[in-house]
Amino acid sequence: MHSTRRQFTRSALIASAGGILLPPSLWAQAITYKVKKGDTLGKIALHLNTSTSELQRANNLNSDLIQVGQKLIIPASGDTNQAGYNSIAMSTYIVVKGDTLGQIAQRHGISVNELKAANNLSRDLILVGQNLRIPANAARQTTPKEDLMAKVRAETARTKIQRDKWQRIVVHHSAIKYGNVEKYDAAHRLRGMQNGLAYHFLIGNGIDAGDGEIEIGPRWQKQQPGGHVKNHLINQTAIGICLIGNFEKTHPSKKQLAAFTQLMDWLRGPALGKKVNFSGHRELKGEQTVCPGKNFPLALMHARYG
Ligand SMILES: [Zn+2]
Repeated sequence: MHSTRRQFTRSALIASAGGILLPPSLWAQAITYKVKKGDTLGKIALHLNTSTSELQRANNLNSDLIQVGQKLIIPASGDTNQAGYNSIAMSTYIVVKGDTLGQIAQRHGISVNELKAANNLSRDLILVGQNLRIPANAARQTTPKEDLMAKVRAETARTKIQRDKWQRIVVHHSAIKYGNVEKYDAAHRLRGMQNGLAYHFLIGNGIDAGDGEIEIGPRWQKQQPGGHVKNHLINQTAIGICLIGNFEKTHPSKKQLAAFTQLMDWLRGPALGKKVNFSGHRELKGEQTVCPGKNFPLALMHARYG
């Protein structure tokens, strides 16, 4: 779905007056750091991938002076909204001596890339005392034995998957809270799409399809090109997965995210047998859309799927 992308810059997030540095919604997302002996603002900035001036701004400091024990807010870099972390359960971990990112990631059942994405780290350096945000493993957010793929495997069993054709997977949200394959298929045919439903897969939200239910569209059954992005060439080779919901306003459910990761793992594994490119709709060149919405955890999915 298309709408004008709301620009959300960091300067807009950090109010300048009144002592309120970040809106309350972002407090949970900001990383804090407790100053230790020997620290300088420059050293902290370097290690935490930010700049001295950013640190001063985020903490309302007029100079480089900091004190041992002082808690600093480390502003998240870049477009924090784009990461969509709100939809992933987060816990906090305080780095102790001897920790490495690899060990911390392993202990929490996530990858180093996922850990880095959740904390906006571009390097592997961490500091003792640093607070890390630990994203829950999206695939584990459903009951462990729940297999949301059974229907897809059964219904695709007789489909001859054209492995050479598919080069990319694009994730969308539907931008409305209602819908399922039957309804969107009818709507897309009314809009002149003779092959019907523009996406290959839909993931229900519990309203018109089950929560986390993966429905197969006719284009996947027939291995036909999608109609889910503007660029005609990309449509020829891109599988479209659409989660029902407006993730500018609400969050994908845990089951929807679990279904999405199970579907992605299946496509990149047994179905296609190759690690195809992965994009959020808005990331494709020439698109004017916020799809799949700010609350879809795109950064974390990129950490997983490249
Ligand atoms: Zn879209």
